Amino acid sequence: MPLYEYYCPQCETRFELLSPMGRANDAATCPNGHAGAQRVLSVFSAVSKGAGGETAPIGGGSACDTCSSSSCSTCSLG
Ligand SMILES: [Zn+2]
Repeated sequence: MPLYEYYCPQCETRFELLSPMGRANDAATCPNGHAGAQRVLSVFSAVSKGAGGETAPIGGGSACDTCSSSSCSTCSLG
């Protein structure tokens, strides 16, 4: 399960959270109990590159950029 970074605007706290694929963009609850913390889009995990320069969220399609399957059995990123 991927680890995402979230930011709570109410207490200005950043925290990390394991989120299932497809749930990364949902609002989270911070360690202090505030609902509505938003995911921080880091340099590493924000977007994957598209052929035409467009960006797409990670999480759809194959498990990582170097695998054509979804199992990631042929690379070290899984
Ligand atoms: Zn908070």
